[in-house]
Amino acid sequence: MPSTSLDAPVVLEASPAPALSVADLFTIGIGPSSSHTVGPMRAAKRFAALALTEGTPIALSCDLFGSLALTGKGHATDVAVLLGLAGWTPEGVDPDLIAALVGEIRDSGALRLDGETLVPFGAADLRFRMGEFLPGHANALRLRAEYGAGRALERTFYSVGGGAIEMEGVAAARANIALPHPFSSGAELLALGERTGMSIAELVLANESAWRPKAETLAFLDEVRAAMLAVIARGCRQEGVLPGGLNVPRRAAKLHATLSARTCAPDPSAVFEWLSLYALAVNEENAAGGRVVTAPTNGAAGVLPAVLKYYETFAPGATRAGSRTLLLSASAIGVLYKLNASISAAEMGCQGEVGVACSMAAAGLTAALGGTNSQVENAAEIGMEHNLGLTCDPIGGLVQIPCIERNTMGAVKAVNAAISPAGRRPPRRVPGRGDRDHAPDRARHGLEVQGDQPRRAGRECR
Ligand code: SF4
Repeated sequence: MPSTSLDAPVVLEASPAPALSVADLFTIGIGPSSSHTVGPMRAAKRFAALALTEGTPIALSCDLFGSLALTGKGHATDVAVLLGLAGWTPEGVDPDLIAALVGEIRDSGALRLDGETLVPFGAADLRFRMGEFLPGHANALRLRAEYGAGRALERTFYSVGGGAIEMEGVAAARANIALPHPFSSGAELLALGERTGMSIAELVLANESAWRPKAETLAFLDEVRAAMLAVIARGCRQEGVLPGGLNVPRRAAKLHATLSARTCAPDPSAVFEWLSLYALAVNEENAAGGRVVTAPTNGAAGVLPAVLKYYETFAPGATRAGSRTLLLSASAIGVLYKLNASISAAEMGCQGEVGVACSMAAAGLTAALGGTNSQVENAAEIGMEHNLGLTCDPIGGLVQIPCIERNTMGAVKAVNAAISPAGRRPPRRVPGRGDRDHAPDRARHGLEVQGDQPRRAGRECR
């Protein structure tokens, strides 16, 4: 679990650019959805603590709006709210205990608010307001605590993607953190690299010093790496059928056994079978409500771990430092999408989830393999370009079909963007970019253009 200092940033003087940390991109939580499960659980937990500061409630209720109402059942939003109100966090709850914890609340018709006071909470207190949207965001929930004599506390939260939440009327707490190397576009990032002589990973690591000492950031990165590899390992052992009613069989364990048992001469394409297996294992765990790392979301949680595992398994000379470089560089690209577009499927479609994850992973792998900053940015562009227009269309509202296989494809595209000669595109004229006709210039300006493209295309893809 991340150290507590990650949640308690040092507030410094005003920064010209909004500050986002690597810890905003990678959080260790539970499946199946960052915006529909992790975000609502955090919101409910935060409300529970707030409610207790006002006294002991005699009644509680929660209304789910927009996308949380429409697909909340399939994404376990109701379960997440119950757990959050009971004081559990996505990082802290044991996925294997969730069924028992929720069963106890439902059977008793009461929950221990933030783990303390017993308050009635029945099925009628959690309402799915189908077809009703709040203006702030497509993922909204309103929580209410009543204390008697007409006194009540009501708060509206938005789950804005990747497990992040915003409370209505409260400005983002991290807006005034000063970074040594602030950037808000691909062009600024590349210019910073040229001016300082630092790699993208080094720039990000230096920026993280605004939140915590370097040693803590490195420990956090190692923790994220370990969690990603652990999900792959667990996913490769689990069998059976995924929950939710679609009866989707888990395939990772069988595929893992098949690939491990091969004795014939290695087929070069086997690398891609392993890569797909890694993503499959993570996303089956996510669909089953297991422990995963948002990267940058749960629906797209398999792409980056798969590419990380690919790097550590198949890249000659791979090192632990290279894995850190991969994660740091990927986070720089994720920050650009968070700042200029969105990683919320409700706003962006799947290009904001798997598309962004593919772009981040392509950049990260390129950096770990020793690519220049321009090559890293170029790989990020390629990773996104071939996901533009990808819609969010999960069958039955479950993060299973096409989500699981979509992550395998995202991982394959990311590796291809990083290592294939086809990915190192020759100079060419970019439509609408005047005389910017060679690759470095295109790389400088492309990502920020694409950062807007997904948002526009997202309106068509929701
Ligand atoms: S289709 Fe993509 S964006 Fe939609 S739930 Fe699945 S992974 Fe997430």
